[in-house]
Amino acid sequence: MSAARCWRGQRWPLGVAPLVMAASVAASQPDPAWALRGDGAQPAPLSDRIVDYEIDARLDVPSRTVQGTETITYRNHTGQPLDGLPFHLYLQAFQPGSTFIRELHRDSPAFVWNEKYRGSLEVTSLTLPGSADLAKDLAYIQPDDGNPADRTVLWARLPRPVLAGQEVRLRLAFRAQLPEILARTGFERGFFMVAQWFPKIGVWWHGAWNCHQYHRSSEFFSDFGTYRVRLTVPRDLRLAGSGEEEATVFNRDGTKTVAYRAEDVHDFAWAADPAFHAVEDSWTGSEGLVRIRMFVRPEHLGQAPRFLAALKGALGCFDRWYGPYPYGRITVVDVPAGSAAAGMEYPTLFTVGTKSWMLAGLRSPELEVIHEFSHQYWYGMVATNEIEEAWLDEGLASYSTAKAMDALYGGFFVEVAGGRLSAADALRLSYRGRPETDPLSRPAYQVLSHDSYEAVSYGKAASVLLTLEGLLGEETTRRALATYFRRHRFTHPTCEDLLRAFEETSGRDLRWFFDQAVLGTQVFDYAVEDVDWEKLEPSAPVPPGTAPTFRSTVLLRRKGDFVFPVEVEVRFADGEAVRERWDGRDRWARYSYDRKSRVVSAQIDPDRRVWLDRDRLNDSRTVVADGRAARKLAGFGLLLRQLLGAVMAWLA
Ligand SMILES: [Zn+2]
Repeated sequence: MSAARCWRGQRWPLGVAPLVMAASVAASQPDPAWALRGDGAQPAPLSDRIVDYEIDARLDVPSRTVQGTETITYRNHTGQPLDGLPFHLYLQAFQPGSTFIRELHRDSPAFVWNEKYRGSLEVTSLTLPGSADLAKDLAYIQPDDGNPADRTVLWARLPRPVLAGQEVRLRLAFRAQLPEILARTGFERGFFMVAQWFPKIGVWWHGAWNCHQYHRSSEFFSDFGTYRVRLTVPRDLRLAGSGEEEATVFNRDGTKTVAYRAEDVHDFAWAADPAFHAVEDSWTGSEGLVRIRMFVRPEHLGQAPRFLAALKGALGCFDRWYGPYPYGRITVVDVPAGSAAAGMEYPTLFTVGTKSWMLAGLRSPELEVIHEFSHQYWYGMVATNEIEEAWLDEGLASYSTAKAMDALYGGFFVEVAGGRLSAADALRLSYRGRPETDPLSRPAYQVLSHDSYEAVSYGKAASVLLTLEGLLGEETTRRALATYFRRHRFTHPTCEDLLRAFEETSGRDLRWFFDQAVLGTQVFDYAVEDVDWEKLEPSAPVPPGTAPTFRSTVLLRRKGDFVFPVEVEVRFADGEAVRERWDGRDRWARYSYDRKSRVVSAQIDPDRRVWLDRDRLNDSRTVVADGRAARKLAGFGLLLRQLLGAVMAWLA
């Protein structure tokens, strides 16, 4: 057992912005929405609702700007006075010199900045009731890397502290310039994906503010609360937003205003396009009806049944396996082909991308729908810190996507022209070239490169969970994840909480596994080094016709540093098989058998439970009948699948 913990929170000092002004902080008053709690008309809050946002915003299509006002009610549940608040201004990442653009250059030296990628988010005023405008004294801070050109985090020093238990109501005006989509957000021809678009407060977490800059590889982290958002856009645009669409008003100036309400969520994103076709459907789960709305592009309408079947299938799997999807609505946005806005999750809304020629046996639309839906659980409800522990959302999403693909499509992500590749195989293949670059526990913005982030947070993390399932069994793993989900939904757990759920459910100490798989960079590689036999000469004369005795030996090697118990199946010429269990602590193990039948093969992990093994080609050997030349058992078929996996990874 190790004393190390798998989560090591990042902290940064407070008191960055030097501003003291006369002031007013609203005393805590009952909010009308809160007063309705439990009265039967309003469902009880599912989360602690730290923050409420009321946003009025207008999209100007020609200038690609969003002008908005925002009232934020922040409840101080920190147990101590707060003298300031940090805000994410993530659209400011799309500026030359920002940390995001620097990291993009690091990973893609060929990337050339173009002014069309410029985005910004300016706070043009910030007031508290009775206060002067604080906007001119706001300060940009760079808690992660000190890059003075990065303006993605703003510190607002309050004129007077918000005392523990009080709430503060801030009124902001902002202007957002949307970039042409370079990553996740912006516009692309007539399509708008408007995400990370309004000033959003950081999270007070583990005794400090947690409000990271925008990075190339990391995603997001925010408090739960309520959103009431009114969007004014040209009438011809179809709008998709988080939460529930409540009302639409058609204005005299050719615009319309659509009101949305979302509760117990931690973000709000929206999309707009005149070309969207709305496909409506519903699904009934353990907590009742969930209305489905998909905004599909005309050229992809033929794939709408595929999207729908995957989404309903995933809703069913997650409801049965982990717990209910409690929101009344889920919205899917199909983005233009090739858009960098594809495959992104937001509360109760996610984006997918496809191509118009997608073959039935190429299930990447299904895989993407299921992966992004699974983030409603692992990110949306179980709101882990995507910047500091990206593997908890991406790994759990990738793992549960592989499980749902198993349940819904026999596991196969690709079934084309006789070639087959499972979702789990594809995930394993995506990490095996980079098994040791970074531990899962490293914050996403501190990894070697974006390639490493993807290999580790998705492929390796899913392989870690599949391997844990191989150790504990599918049923125990499912119960552990259901426990983790039910215990931590609508909060911000860490991997210590995940470990605890696994240990409590299985009744086993698993820190040795997390130490290697999560904290460590140990490479997992077991191999059958040799399989051999010799005919034993009898020590005394035997009658003619007596069957000879053979001594068979199997030599196993642990080629990497990852120690894990493995099984090996040794097969003999008479059809008999022996299973051995090796704890893997030594670097090698030799098994020897004196039998009437000689060995023909040895196979490590015969039941395919160990997904972390980076090289399955060396997991088996067979003895050719007429000689001693041993060859690998798996051979060409597996190699072909690995090649197919590489091709698919490139396609994705
Ligand atoms: Zn994901």
